[in-house]
Amino acid sequence: MKSSKSNRREFLKLLTYSTLGVATTPMLASCATLFSTKMKNNGFKKAIVIGSGYGGAVAALRLTQKNIPTLLIEMGQEWKLTPKHDTFCKMITADKRSSWRSSTPHAPITIPFFIKKYAGVLDKEKHPNMDVFLGRGLGGGSLVNGGIAITPDKNYFEKILPSVNSEEMFDKYFPLANKALRVNTIEADFFEETPYYQFSRIAREDAKKAGYQTKFFPNVYDFEYMKKEAKGEVYKSALNGEVIYGNNAGKWTLDRTYIAQAQETKNLEIRTLCQVTNIEQLENGHYKILITKLNTKGEPIAQETYTCQYLFLGAGSMGTSKLLMKSKHEGGLSKLNEKVGQEWGSNGNIMTGRNFVNATGRKQSTIPVLGIDGWNDPENPIFAEIAPLPMNLETWTTLYLAITQNPERGYFAYNEITKEVQLIWNKNQNDPAKQAAKKFIDRMNKANGGIRSHLLFNNGYGDDFCYHPLGGCVLGKATDNYGRIENYKNLYAIDGSLIPGSVGVNPFVTITALAERNMDYILKEDFLNE
Ligand SMILES: Cc1cc2nc3c(=O)[nH]c(=O)nc-3n(C[C@H](O)[C@H](O)[C@H](O)COP(=O)(O)OP(=O)(O)OC[C@H]3O[C@@H](n4cnc5c(N)ncnc54)[C@H](O)[C@@H]3O)c2cc1C
Repeated sequence: MKSSKSNRREFLKLLTYSTLGVATTPMLASCATLFSTKMKNNGFKKAIVIGSGYGGAVAALRLTQKNIPTLLIEMGQEWKLTPKHDTFCKMITADKRSSWRSSTPHAPITIPFFIKKYAGVLDKEKHPNMDVFLGRGLGGGSLVNGGIAITPDKNYFEKILPSVNSEEMFDKYFPLANKALRVNTIEADFFEETPYYQFSRIAREDAKKAGYQTKFFPNVYDFEYMKKEAKGEVYKSALNGEVIYGNNAGKWTLDRTYIAQAQETKNLEIRTLCQVTNIEQLENGHYKILITKLNTKGEPIAQETYTCQYLFLGAGSMGTSKLLMKSKHEGGLSKLNEKVGQEWGSNGNIMTGRNFVNATGRKQSTIPVLGIDGWNDPENPIFAEIAPLPMNLETWTTLYLAITQNPERGYFAYNEITKEVQLIWNKNQNDPAKQAAKKFIDRMNKANGGIRSHLLFNNGYGDDFCYHPLGGCVLGKATDNYGRIENYKNLYAIDGSLIPGSVGVNPFVTITALAERNMDYILKEDFLNE
């Protein structure tokens, strides 16, 4: 086990690397800010949750409802909505708020202008051959995502998580998650009439001609609010280009659902702009966590520690996997088993598009509601979300976020020199996903005309980034069947890291429902004496 002295030494070493220009974390790499190296000990907390995305938010709510005082720690900022609707920036006028410590706005398509480095809401973690987009802030991915809220296909769920009782999930925890997330569905009449979904209707026609089924899917964007936007009665958010850099209205993000409910219990303490950098188990079985306090530029300004009895990791597939691997290799959690850091996947994500299709419309809602469902096609299983291109001009382009059944998996590795954890993903590991997307695009173009979208992505296929990172601390392998991390009592993974690389649909409903299930069991069995 490591002392706080050696942790401080580690941190200073990192800072030295960063000022020497040696690659460390993106956050530290370009930072020359000096700060007090005095470690502040913040004392003991009963339960700590790291990360405030879906998994973390469920843990925070269910713990606090049981009267367990809980500290929720988040590295991003709190983004409070204001009556002036000026919390977040729009996509086409992106400013520093858009991106986590970047000098150009993070986006799947290059936006060629400069912004100031800031602790903005969308991050793009760069790993070899794979950039991973992530939400940063109180509410995690819910702040930046498209809100698509799909309960997965039961057969596929049983295939990916065979140890989980699927009856119980589909009877109890999926309905619970859908309700708590405030999932709703677009009204058919509105969809058919509004100019804002012309892009989806055009794609539906094309899909039909190519012999594909389409289906509507639910969302956490409030469609009653959207109808009012269309009538000009309220502030326009989804109908005016807001999504990946946050919505100033209309969307039920986690800070307005799970986390708000947890705050009402008065048992929740929240700390934002605090990045957990290491975990260590102490001799009495408690956990000590090392925190780097950040300023609003995302630069480190101080170091602090907490200790706790129960520790829940909700830092997402990337955050949780990296923290565990780092702590394992630096001695704080050296008994983690060999499955930790394994079975990472991108949910088979490929972003692609077709140019020179029929007019898709200048006005486009940013909230996707329709998908092309070829999931049960044995020759080429694929589910393609029809995504908007809300650029406020006619592009004659259809964009798709395709989810494929790519069986390839990556893993996380610790680099002894940089002391950083990196995702290992080879370029050709995305070939199965790319092939599936190509077959899909070829079939669509053959039936309708149009060409694959060279203009948007390299060769037409965005195969070097993803929105849906999953795995790294897989249920039943790195943990028991409920997320208890092997060899460490009272240490839990509760987020997307539990799912082995693929879920077949957009993942947050599954992450939430699984977290609900695991918390139910953990609270009943591990907190008996609380
Ligand atoms: C642009 C975009 C669009 C998407 N659209 C959809 C969609 O429409 N539907 C869907 O189902 N999914 C969508 N997703 C994916 C979805 O948002 C994620 O699957 C989901 O957020 C993962 O939940 P999680 O709880 O695992 O982690 P996250 O939601 O990623 O939360 C992890 C949190 O932990 C924090 N954190 C990480 N490391 C640390 C640390 N060391 N210390 C402190 N805090 C830390 C992060 O800042 C973050 O707030 C989208 C993602 C993106 C990026």
